Amino acid sequence: MGCFITDSPEQTKELGRKFGLSLPANSIVCFFGDLGSGKTTFIKGMASAFSASTEATSPTFVYLNIYEGEKCIYHFDLYRLHSSEEFLNMGFDEYLFAGGICCIEWSERIASLLPHGVIRLQFSHISDNQRKIIYS
Ligand code: ADP
Ligand code: MG
Repeated sequence: MGCFITDSPEQTKELGRKFGLSLPANSIVCFFGDLGSGKTTFIKGMASAFSASTEATSPTFVYLNIYEGEKCIYHFDLYRLHSSEEFLNMGFDEYLFAGGICCIEWSERIASLLPHGVIRLQFSHISDNQRKIIYS
C-alpha cells in the first residue's frame, strides 16, 4: 500500500520507471482512474525501464500494445471488450504468463480470468498538473 503525488507528466513517467524495475516477471498490474488521469503516461515510464524507446514495437491492435524490451510490457485497454470469452478467443490469456509485465486498463472486463493478488493502481486528478497514484 502506498500513495504518491506527482507534479508533472515527467514525474509520473519516472515513478513508472522505478515501479517497473521493481516488478518480477509475470506481474499483472491493473490500472484504474478517469481518462487523462495519467495511466498511459505511467505505463510509458514502465516501458522506459526496459527499453530506450517507448513506442509500441508491435502492430497496434484495438486492445493491445506491446512495448518490447528487456522485459516486454503488454498494455491492454479493454474498454471495448465485451466479455472474458472474447479475451480468451483472441488468445490474450497467453500474455498473462509470458514472462513479461501485463498492464491492464479496464480489467473489470476480465475479472473472472485474473489470478488473486494482482497489483492495483488507482489514478486520480488533483489539479491540472498533479495526479494522485494509490498502490495496493
Ligand atoms: P490516461 O491513460 O489515464 O487516460 P494519459 O496518460 O493518456 O491518461 O494522459 C494524461 C494527461 O495528463 C496527459 O496529457 C499529460 O500531459 C497530462 N498530465 C498533467 N499532469 C500530469 C501528471 N502529473 N501525471 C501524468 N499526466 C499528467
Ligand atoms: Mg490511457
